Amino acid sequence: MTDSEIVLGLPQYEITAIERAGGTITISARHAGPISCPHCQGSRLRNKGWRRRSVRHDDWGFRQCVLRLELRKSRCLDCGRWFRQRIPGIQPFQRASESFQEMVFQQHLDGINRSCLGRRKGIGAATVQRYFLRRLQKRARQDHAPLCPKILGIDEHFFTRRKGYATTFCDLKNHRVYDVTLGRSEKALESYFLRLQGKQQVRIVCMDLAAVYRSLVRKHFPNAIIVADRFHVIRLVNHHFLACWRDIDPIGSKNRGLLSLMRRHRHNLKPEQQLRLMAYLAERPALELIYRFKQRLCYLLLKKHKTKRQCQKLIPRFLRAVVELRQSGLAQLVTLGDTLHSWSEEIVRMWRFTRSNGITEGFHNKMETISRQAYGFRNFEKLPAASAGAMFLERFGIGVCPRNWRRARRAKACGWDAGIRTPIRRSRVCSLTVRRRPNGASIEL
Ligand SMILES: [Zn+2]
Repeated sequence: MTDSEIVLGLPQYEITAIERAGGTITISARHAGPISCPHCQGSRLRNKGWRRRSVRHDDWGFRQCVLRLELRKSRCLDCGRWFRQRIPGIQPFQRASESFQEMVFQQHLDGINRSCLGRRKGIGAATVQRYFLRRLQKRARQDHAPLCPKILGIDEHFFTRRKGYATTFCDLKNHRVYDVTLGRSEKALESYFLRLQGKQQVRIVCMDLAAVYRSLVRKHFPNAIIVADRFHVIRLVNHHFLACWRDIDPIGSKNRGLLSLMRRHRHNLKPEQQLRLMAYLAERPALELIYRFKQRLCYLLLKKHKTKRQCQKLIPRFLRAVVELRQSGLAQLVTLGDTLHSWSEEIVRMWRFTRSNGITEGFHNKMETISRQAYGFRNFEKLPAASAGAMFLERFGIGVCPRNWRRARRAKACGWDAGIRTPIRRSRVCSLTVRRRPNGASIEL
């Protein structure tokens, strides 16, 4: 390694002069490496003169450093195109070297705000933000594998009133959002599934009890096994049970205290709460029977980590419960029985499978928070980028909020709401700023 390379930290450069003027050090340098055509990699070139380029580089202590480079302009004799010499460590059209941009990124990530960092480095606040976002997107791209994950979680969430729902694809093995796409109907998702890569390697798909997703997955993921999501199944059981309760006792079911006791699992009730519930049920023997049945069913559905042999013993219990539901004669319970019957295979697989779509739900929560803080995303394209950026930041224990959020809140308080909202909406994702959490703790999903 030559002295020039040690000083600059860039390969194959040669320093020709160093000057100091005020607080700035100007280093004149020349790239000594071989030149080749960027279009055809040919080396038969004709020199067409020199071009100067000034590039911001790593600071020397408190002094700013500028690289003054002399670059060759050439014409390729093989393909006939003109080009300017490409050099390592500096991208075309950039006014700062990669290492300088990385330094700005790191310092902004460490919590120095844009304007302060910009003043210190002699660049604009907008430039700090641009460097920061570019690096962030680069890292998010590196995290996002091009092929489908092996264990996929699918769930829908509400996006906007005009555009309806969006579908989230989650990598349940690595706890990442794989992708988000607009729509939840077969028609809307068909084209997305068609261009998805690596569908063969998906082994397990975890989803709620939506028939559309099931038929799509059966069609597009030939090697995947569908597993029902435990959270959604239990929620469905509870939903029908509570509706049935409303049919039986319309007045009692309006009692919010009782409602909260009714929908919980038995192990989540305190002794005095259990007594209260039992006292209510003792007056209604029919309801008590249904309640006990629901508890048994829920505990059956909560089982996991089971072996094949254990599952074989559990399956008759589940099938009996489904038959009982369908023969109960109560409209709500019959509907529940029919749903469980049509999804019986997927539900039974839950016992062998330990993961659930809980992570996906957590990501939805996060996305909704981001969206709410930005006063809603109207442009769907921005949502995945924003959420990917936010998730990336959260691994560093940093919360994300949009740039104009605070200003907007203040403006709203003094009646300037309408005037200021438009620019906020327009600048949504480009305006993510970083704030370090005081204790550096990461956020639990
Ligand atoms: Zn060429």
